[in-house]
Amino acid sequence: MTVSIEPIEEDLVIVGSGPAGLSAAIYAKQAGFNPLVVSAIDPSLIATTDQVNNFIGLGNLSGKALHEMMKAHYKEVCGADRSITFEVSSVIKKSDGTFELHSTLGDVLAAKAVIWAAGAKPRKLGIEGEDDLEALSYCATCDGSMYEGDPHLVVVGGGDSAVEEALYLAELVDKVTLLVRNDIRAKEELQERLRANSKIEVVLGAQVAAVTEIENMEVDVKVTGSDDIIASGVFVAIGHIPNSHPIGSIVVLDGSGFVDTVDETSGFFVAGDINGVNHRQAIIAAGDGAKAGIEASDYLRALV
Ligand code: NDP
Repeated sequence: MTVSIEPIEEDLVIVGSGPAGLSAAIYAKQAGFNPLVVSAIDPSLIATTDQVNNFIGLGNLSGKALHEMMKAHYKEVCGADRSITFEVSSVIKKSDGTFELHSTLGDVLAAKAVIWAAGAKPRKLGIEGEDDLEALSYCATCDGSMYEGDPHLVVVGGGDSAVEEALYLAELVDKVTLLVRNDIRAKEELQERLRANSKIEVVLGAQVAAVTEIENMEVDVKVTGSDDIIASGVFVAIGHIPNSHPIGSIVVLDGSGFVDTVDETSGFFVAGDINGVNHRQAIIAAGDGAKAGIEASDYLRALV
């Protein structure tokens, strides 16, 4: 005979330990609950950001330092034992209204409410050595100021993000080359601003083949379909991949896999970059997490 052991039921499980998840946990704890934060081994996106200089009140610090401060604050408020490694593979809504979270290792958690703050990863170019190149970045507002006054930067991508990044960086450096592998698909308003900006050169049909660090803190960008470029840095803005595959049966996802609609009356909440926000910023995710923490606490209080 097989004896199945029911998992201990948590009031609130928060998935994700970035700014959204940890902020949600602090608010839920201060509202009288004892949330469990679960995350995969991958670090939060903020921990991999070189520099953050726009989180009000904190001045200039690395993304890693900011994430360490957030984790320390979270542990002080919620307790170190309330955070575990648990990579969620699926979430199931049960007939009694509670949730079951299954891990990739076959473990199960049960919860009355869930906040999904698992974020999104920037899509990578897929070139050799990509993860080790210091001059390669995925966020102009995070890392752009490091290049202030430099002669030349490269931006890769043809969507709204890439054009916004190119416009932002053109305020800081002498020249920006925007490499677009096919055609530009950014909205017309952004394309108009692009055409009006004499500092930005757009190269269509250009695909980055390799980026190599050379002397003087510069990189050599090998481009299929165009000449090589020497620049101080390369900003990759070719979309994000949301960590949403385990929640496809709980929420409505948009065509890119971000959350489109969620029924919060069911006890399932989402916060942070998973929402497909246009501005992927730590401070926005933290605010979004605070809101989800308050709303999930209200939901739990109404159950009693
Ligand atoms: P998109 O998916 O819209 O665009 C991605 C771009 O990257 C495309 O030009 C695509 O080319 C290119 N690309 C994809 N993979 C590669 C690759 N391996 N090598 C080179 N190029 C590649 O992503 P965005 O992040 O720009 O936008 C995501 C969503 O967010 C969109 O809905 C956008 O409208 C929205 N957004 C809105 C903003 C605003 O309203 N201000 C600001 C930022 C984003 P291809 O066309 O060939 O596939």
